[in-house]
Amino acid sequence: MVVLLGGGPGDPGLLTRAGADWLARAEVVVYDRLASPELLDLAPPSAERIYAGKAPGGHAMTQEQINATLVEQGRAGRRVVRLKGGDPFVFGRGGEEAAALAEAGVPYCVVPGITAAIGACAYAGIPLTDRRWASSVALVTGHEDPDRPGSRMNWSALAGIDTVVFYMGVGNLAHIAERLIEAGRPPATPTALVERGTTPAQRTVLATLASVAERAAEQRVQAPALLVVGEVARLAERLAWRAPLPLAGRTVLVTRSRQQASALAGRLRELGAAVIEAPTIAIEPPEDFSTIDAALARLGEYGLVAFTSANGVEAFLARGRTLGLDGRALAGVRLAAVGPATAEAMRKAFLEPDVVPEVFTADALAAALASLGDLAGRRVLLARADIARPALVEALAAAGAIVDDIAFYRTVAPEALPPEALDALENNRVDWITFTSSSTVTNFLELLPRRPGRAQRGPAAGAPLPAAVRLASIGPITSETLREHGLEPTVEASPHDIPGLLQAILAAEQAGAEGASA
Ligand code: SAH
Repeated sequence: MVVLLGGGPGDPGLLTRAGADWLARAEVVVYDRLASPELLDLAPPSAERIYAGKAPGGHAMTQEQINATLVEQGRAGRRVVRLKGGDPFVFGRGGEEAAALAEAGVPYCVVPGITAAIGACAYAGIPLTDRRWASSVALVTGHEDPDRPGSRMNWSALAGIDTVVFYMGVGNLAHIAERLIEAGRPPATPTALVERGTTPAQRTVLATLASVAERAAEQRVQAPALLVVGEVARLAERLAWRAPLPLAGRTVLVTRSRQQASALAGRLRELGAAVIEAPTIAIEPPEDFSTIDAALARLGEYGLVAFTSANGVEAFLARGRTLGLDGRALAGVRLAAVGPATAEAMRKAFLEPDVVPEVFTADALAAALASLGDLAGRRVLLARADIARPALVEALAAAGAIVDDIAFYRTVAPEALPPEALDALENNRVDWITFTSSSTVTNFLELLPRRPGRAQRGPAAGAPLPAAVRLASIGPITSETLREHGLEPTVEASPHDIPGLLQAILAAEQAGAEGASA
């Protein structure tokens, strides 16, 4: 059985109960780019997930390949969910997939979903029909090249329909507006662009038919978005019921370590940003465990074990488990964490740090440790990454401690930035880049393709970054690394943690908004 399943426009709450039931029992899920990750999570972990969406800059699979996959999986007797954004039969190519299944004799069913026009307009406060203003609606593709000979678009017929909703039209707004005006629609006709409707990033941009293309460029409206043309678009001004989130319409590129929990990305999404995650650090086990194992074998001899990252804690615990150690090996040993995230990672293993400094830098940790006062002649184990800075070791040594400074993991650069990140940078779609450590800076710049002849910042041999991109740094050391590469951070977090970073971005956005309206 193959289920052509409409996942709705974005808000996972808009999935039907039939859709949720099918997903929960899926053996294979073939999904699109617009299918929200929360919906994919409804499928059992054992279900095979096949990505069939368009990657930026190309198709992951052609429609023929998708049809063939559905037929093949269906014939194999598996329960296949073909998960689509919106409704499968509204610009979803569900008709072609159903035809392929019918022809192959594979049983299928169709579970409708809330199509983008219905969902996004409801959330934007735009009634598609209204007794006073609109008694007809058309759903139209804006993708079809209006100049193509043999275009099936009947513009004069469309001009006679009260509310016209264009899907896939963002790249074609000037043409669409021009054609509708030519066909007799007044240039002053109200229009609304609803971007990422029903998601936290939803944004509505109001204009007229004459000004919509310009407004969209100015406001950097991006797909997925709908163009609504007609008197009802005006109602959004009064009927919009969802407060726009502070980062709606903003794209944030989050440079992060692969294993690092995506807490930052999650919070940014909740604030309305479109987030692109770009792993810039991969964490690998050390090549040689001998020094680590020697240290772990005599844990009880340490006066203090200090952790400088959550990854360090995890690597420490993992190796300890491999060696068959028991938590009680740490009995009587003092513990220190460089900051709250590190402390949190420790608490998962019932390890309560004795020291967590107020300010989250290695220097502050050194000062806090020194305040313990009894380090002279004591052994200290510093469980850190291979690229830690020497400040902490020096400070501890100055306090008279005998420091075993051991790298518990290696940080390496990944092969490349994800295509989505490159594509967004290339097309000037990135508003912010966040950096949460010096190595995210150096590795990110390393991974950027160098393109001579483009507007560049940084030293001559440095990395090309579009000048409009704003840079958010987690703290003074990360900022310093940016400056070493000729890049000035737009904001620096204070306190130097994730909430501080979010706060700094929000404050800058707010100042910008006030500046613009002043
Ligand atoms: N089958 C889908 C449409 C797929 S075509 C449906 O029924 O909704 C893709 C187009 O749908 C996008 O280019 C955009 O115009 C529109 N779209 C999809 N999701 C959207 C959303 N959340 N907000 C606004 N438009 C959306």
